[in-house]
Amino acid sequence: MSIRQEVLFKIKSVALDKINSPEKVSSYFGENTFGMEAMRKHISKATFAAFKAWMSESKTISLGQANEIADAMKEWAISKGATYYTHWFQPMTGLTAEKHDSFISFTGPGKVIEKFSGSKLIQGEPDASSFPSGGIRATFEARGYTAWDPTSPAFIIESTLGKTLCIPTIFISYHGEALDKKLPLLRSDEVLNKAAVGLLKLFGHKDVKKVFSTCGPEQEYFLIDKNYYNLRQDLVMAGRTLIGAPSPKGQQLEDQYFGTIKERVVNFMFEVAQEAYKLGIPLMTRHNEVAPHQYEFAPIFEESNIAADHNQLLMELMKKIALRHNLVCLLHEKPFAGINGSGKHVNWSLSDDQGNNLLNPGETPEDNLQFLVFLVAVLRAVYLHADLLRASVASSGNEHRLGANEAPPAIMSVFLGEQLNMILNMLESGVKSKVSKRDIVDLGIGRLPRFNRDMTDRNRTSPFAFTGSKFEFRAVGSSQNISTPITIVNTIIAESLDYVTNAIKTVKGTGKDFNSEVLKVISAIAKETKDIRFEGNNYSEDWIREAKKRGLPNVAATYEALEAFTEKKNIVLFEKYKVFSKEELVARYHIWIHMYNLTLEIEANTLKEMVNASVVPAGYKYEKLLARTLHELVELEKSAGLKIDPAALEDKKAHLSDVISKIYYVRRNTNEMAELLEKAKEHSDEKRAELYFKELKLLMEHIRKHVDQLEYVVSDDAWDLPKYREMLFIK
Ligand code: ADP
Ligand code: MG
Repeated sequence: MSIRQEVLFKIKSVALDKINSPEKVSSYFGENTFGMEAMRKHISKATFAAFKAWMSESKTISLGQANEIADAMKEWAISKGATYYTHWFQPMTGLTAEKHDSFISFTGPGKVIEKFSGSKLIQGEPDASSFPSGGIRATFEARGYTAWDPTSPAFIIESTLGKTLCIPTIFISYHGEALDKKLPLLRSDEVLNKAAVGLLKLFGHKDVKKVFSTCGPEQEYFLIDKNYYNLRQDLVMAGRTLIGAPSPKGQQLEDQYFGTIKERVVNFMFEVAQEAYKLGIPLMTRHNEVAPHQYEFAPIFEESNIAADHNQLLMELMKKIALRHNLVCLLHEKPFAGINGSGKHVNWSLSDDQGNNLLNPGETPEDNLQFLVFLVAVLRAVYLHADLLRASVASSGNEHRLGANEAPPAIMSVFLGEQLNMILNMLESGVKSKVSKRDIVDLGIGRLPRFNRDMTDRNRTSPFAFTGSKFEFRAVGSSQNISTPITIVNTIIAESLDYVTNAIKTVKGTGKDFNSEVLKVISAIAKETKDIRFEGNNYSEDWIREAKKRGLPNVAATYEALEAFTEKKNIVLFEKYKVFSKEELVARYHIWIHMYNLTLEIEANTLKEMVNASVVPAGYKYEKLLARTLHELVELEKSAGLKIDPAALEDKKAHLSDVISKIYYVRRNTNEMAELLEKAKEHSDEKRAELYFKELKLLMEHIRKHVDQLEYVVSDDAWDLPKYREMLFIK
């Protein structure tokens, strides 16, 4: 029996304590966070007021006030059982990082007290010199600093034997450059705020003080049994299967999507939700996705930077809790070949401080005019900066998805839905010099229905779709930190809002008709950006041809997509808005190219080992079985006159030859791959990424093809690697 078959008998769900009546969520939601409510309870009125002013008007607080908050935070955390604290940050690797410190402090020999000061709250110095900086930090000043991000509440992470207070922070260099994904996001929200408030003023909303982006990321993932996972080096090392023949049943029956959730999985979902609620993560929906053993969680939307933190936390919770259920949560964009990969639909909108969603059509014709202005600003942003959007989702994992026939293509386009599209088409042909309310109504702008989910499309193929009161950026990868995509979206839309504001400003107050001028601006943008609108099937070949005709970029390779971060026009844009300096932007390019290379090297080396230590020996076992049988039969023919049909004998020989050849192909290509990896060492990172994309990936695919063919014929008990049909169809 193979190890794999032994594992088959070990597959079982864990025993769980039955809950007779679960607690009401409202009774514990957010109990592990030091949010506004907890803070109000634990600090003085004056300090609380100062803190609020800090949040809403950017008025900083004093060190004394910071000390008071730190002390309150510590008391609160200790009362909950926390003994350690950490500055929690999001380095450019895409993970989250923490370095824990105890609360203790000596008060005399052998005597300690729990202490936590304002300065420790505000700044940390984790000496995190091993994090990638892309050349921003020279080694002599390699330290990175963490600084408190008070906009995101501190929280407590529970593990079986203790609790840790986590303080969300940004991570910066000695000179203040962003070494993380969070600081640029905060900067971009500020830029968006200014631009949107400016535009709203023109529409008479002088009372709006703040506009922010909102985000609800839909998180897709796979679950597989831990026993299988442990037997697959590729899943352990690379998070995806590098070999593995498709099972006869995949997703073709479409019997998984929205199907009944298996007991084992739903238990996992209950526990994730419970832990998420304690942390104030507002999980809302959960369901089966298209591929077997693929699922999704979606939260209620929140302010973007909170949503980004929450999504990072959610991914960590999912991974941790899966293990408790004898499962492993796979967040990779393409864990299994031949069936759908996982993405993260990032729902994005704009909200003002009065609770209005600026991408929701309003009640009056004027409101709708304003809505259209915001809408075309988004169109213009995507039109002008499709390259940046593509770059914001570029990674080796996502490269398997974008452009494949299941996920948004690498071509960026916007879907608006029939009604909005019609209005824009109509406007394109021109606008009267004086536009009355009646005219607006006639244009169909008077009464736009709230585009709730039933009204808008279910065009699931668009990478940037308007779905009611929000845009859905669907090209984001499932394992990605959403901060970067949001940073890019915020910045390019801020730039567009500024453009529109200026265009309207130049006519406002000149005595011209306001409605008419606004419509003219809308009309001009609708015309200019028409090529970015696409209502059809984004997965079709026709669209690829059509997009090419329209001159829309279609960048499949990660290394090419990332080049957008080094282009002059983009550097100028980000420097203008102070979201990234040139150094910061170029650093990201270098880090992400480097990470792409490292990932591919890990994959290739894992494949090499699997082939040499697992696949080939299994092939030899089977080869030996065939050779022996053949030999014995021929012997029997000679010695005992056994009658063998010549055709049957030929078939046996052909089968053996075939197996011998397949093993040979696999080995030959694997050796070639090893040579390629050696050769690549001579090249720069950029060149290497190109080589990996153009040659290494093809070679890996080729090896896979032959290995998968072997998997289909090698005897089941010689094959140690869990098969797709097992991993994807566990009960
Ligand atoms: P759909 O069916 O179109 O995907 P849902 O209502 O199910 O729409 O929402 C999907 C996700 O979009 C949810 O996570 C939700 O919180 C988020 N979402 C809804 N409205 C907004 C908004 N205004 N801003 C950001 N995200 C939003
Ligand atoms: Mg959706």
